[in-house]
Amino acid sequence: MTFRATVLTLYPEMFPGPLGQSIAGRALADGKWSFDARNIRDHAIDKHRTVDDTPAGGGAGMVLRCDVLAAAIDAVADGRPMLALTPRGKPLTQARVRQLAAGEGAILLCGRFEGFDERIFDARPIEEVSIGDYVLSGGELGAMVLLDACVRLLPGVMGAASSGEEESFEAGLLEYPHYTRPVEWEGRTIPEVLRSGDHARIAAWRHDRASADTRLRRPDLIERHGGAREEPPSGARLED
Ligand code: SAH
Repeated sequence: MTFRATVLTLYPEMFPGPLGQSIAGRALADGKWSFDARNIRDHAIDKHRTVDDTPAGGGAGMVLRCDVLAAAIDAVADGRPMLALTPRGKPLTQARVRQLAAGEGAILLCGRFEGFDERIFDARPIEEVSIGDYVLSGGELGAMVLLDACVRLLPGVMGAASSGEEESFEAGLLEYPHYTRPVEWEGRTIPEVLRSGDHARIAAWRHDRASADTRLRRPDLIERHGGAREEPPSGARLED
């Protein structure tokens, strides 16, 4: 089963964009996932190919028409999860990304202008997701963010060594900090423990740093995971 992504957008030429580069791009070229971008405007019903109209109740901007959106959705709906990018949505998490990556793909709806006519969310099974508490000018970058996060988790896309198990958020914690050569740089050295070759000590240090940094930088993550201290990674218990 190949992960299939379909994006509904007014700017299909923005894709694959960054998804055509590096890890995601290589995986796309290798057929580890497939992608297509459809123009919502192709489903406009009037001769001017209108996709938006003024907001009911007045106010600035334009709103995407639900009849046009529905036609665009119905043309591709096939049981894959459907998600709309909107700042009003549930914040995207690594846990949701993992679930999506384990499935058959996703259909992503990108907003523009002031967003979608709300009735589309009653009429079709669409999950509203946000990529963060700030406002973009369109859903396309959000869709790219979501797909990039999914694609790197697909089987065979990253090496086994970087399967992501120890990464930020996977254990409800931020990841520990990284260092590489040179050992000394501008008078700063790499923490001694990381040069000790003692795998158990290294694992314990990494776990402690992940905990401490999360507490300091993202107390909300600790809160969300019930403040439970995570088990140290299995490496810490290996006597090798
Ligand atoms: N008037 C809206 C913002 C519209 S921004 C509001 O205040 O809620 C235009 C489009 O950009 C949205 O329809 C959505 O598709 C996308 N977008 C903007 N910010 C986003 C975010 N944080 N997460 C996901 N999509 C976002």
